[in-house]
Amino acid sequence: MTGPTRAPARRDEMTATWFDALGSGRLLLRACPHGHMSRPDVLACDVCGSVDLDWTESSGRGSVVARAVDHATRPPTCLVVVVLAEGPWLFTRLDEGDVARGDVVTVRIAAPGDGEAYPVVVPGGWDGSPQGH
Ligand SMILES: [Zn+2]
Repeated sequence: MTGPTRAPARRDEMTATWFDALGSGRLLLRACPHGHMSRPDVLACDVCGSVDLDWTESSGRGSVVARAVDHATRPPTCLVVVVLAEGPWLFTRLDEGDVARGDVVTVRIAAPGDGEAYPVVVPGGWDGSPQGH
């Protein structure tokens, strides 16, 4: 996978709520009045186009759509596209272990001491056990 990630990376007026939630360990999505869920960086609902968007908390569960390894970093970064249980896709990276397409993953919040918190994923479901095949 190449190209920019779609998740907000810098704090501004639009993403402040997102970063504040991450800082308290919550992953937020946008929700329109019809209950559709969209990625946090959209300006309008992915499904119906509504711009009347509110924030809602994600379960943090999802499965892997695609993965790619960026060898330009040391150590290499495993980039992962996850489809969340709520429907939206999250462009993130793997924090530990390894995953393949279709694997169940759980979103965790990484909180570096010197910057904004950001979401990462780890293999397996909420109970922390590795997914069986
Ligand atoms: Zn909608």
